[in-house]
Amino acid sequence: MIVLKSHQEIALMRKAGIIVAETLDRLQKEIVPGATTAHLDLVARKCIKEFDARPAFLGYQGFPASICASINEEVVHGIPGIRRLREGDIISIDVGVQYKGYFGDSARTFAVGEVSPLARRLIEVTRGALYCSLEKARPGNRLYDISFAIQDHAESRGFFVVRNYVGHGIGSNMHEEPQVPNFGTPGRGSLLEPGMVLAVEPMVNVGTWEVETLSDEWTVVTKDRSLSAHFEHTVAIMEDGPEILTASQ
Ligand code: MG
Ligand code: MG
Repeated sequence: MIVLKSHQEIALMRKAGIIVAETLDRLQKEIVPGATTAHLDLVARKCIKEFDARPAFLGYQGFPASICASINEEVVHGIPGIRRLREGDIISIDVGVQYKGYFGDSARTFAVGEVSPLARRLIEVTRGALYCSLEKARPGNRLYDISFAIQDHAESRGFFVVRNYVGHGIGSNMHEEPQVPNFGTPGRGSLLEPGMVLAVEPMVNVGTWEVETLSDEWTVVTKDRSLSAHFEHTVAIMEDGPEILTASQ
């Protein structure tokens, strides 16, 4: 069942979203060669606490950190640690917070210093896939209009969308119905209605859609170890169209 949110609930989710965006903005300044992912995690944790919010990932199914930090061929769910960023890396950072009972969830892929033209293009295409799919998040459209927009944008540019992990509804739970795949047939899926709030999150790979999980049982990597990027926004479907709740202010 898809839970529709009231204007009051969306107002709380807007605040959660602002905290997520502010955290990602602060992290962006810390993305430099030599920084450890544990340092990024600490910066995020402090920022989230400053806003009287709670890092949603910490302890979620046993996850040991406040953010997911996934480098290069890592797709999602990378665990922050002693690894240092190197010039030319790309890093996907996923931030989730809970504020007054409501969740916000957003991810961005950052370049560490100068990156290869391929890495730069992957980042641009993945970001583009997210934004063109969000345009479809309006009443009267169908859920897989969003999914297809992601798939079409990425695949027509020669990249691959991850199929094993999907976006999701979000509200007083971090993960709610419906699942939001990054591929699908336009005109199909649930009818989009005002009050639906979705976390739309394209994960785009250079060489294959296939992924596998490392022995830490968290880190998801591309099967061929090609680069992967991840962008995510929490979007509310309003009467007059999409409102991105996790947009940078
Ligand atoms: Mg996320
Ligand atoms: Mg998510």
